[in-house]
Amino acid sequence: MAILKRSHLPTDFIKEVRGRLTEEIALLGAEEKRLVAHDPFFVPGRDVGNAETMDEAEEALGHERVETEMAVVRQRLEETQAALAKIKSGRYGICEKCRGRIDRARLEIFPQARYCVECEEKEQ
Ligand SMILES: [Zn+2]
Repeated sequence: MAILKRSHLPTDFIKEVRGRLTEEIALLGAEEKRLVAHDPFFVPGRDVGNAETMDEAEEALGHERVETEMAVVRQRLEETQAALAKIKSGRYGICEKCRGRIDRARLEIFPQARYCVECEEKEQ
């Protein structure tokens, strides 16, 4: 497979993807804020006002749930930011392993894809 230095994708497609990724970052940022607000460990004055409605075990469980969801959101944020960085450097759509092209159809479904299908399959 040919080694690419610059993205093989048309600029209008990349523009559209950039819009989608930017939007996704805004959504994920909002989701992150919502999760922080729902974490019982972050509720202001929880030792006072919250003590009656939520015992410590419940609190810990709620915290754990939030942590799990938060990890998913943060990973997604990272992937999305990495994809935007690749657009900036003109390497969007280039597989990070073999430097070959990632199919446009694949990027339409999963714009954060880092590898081509072949490399992704080898990874698993
Ligand atoms: Zn590859």
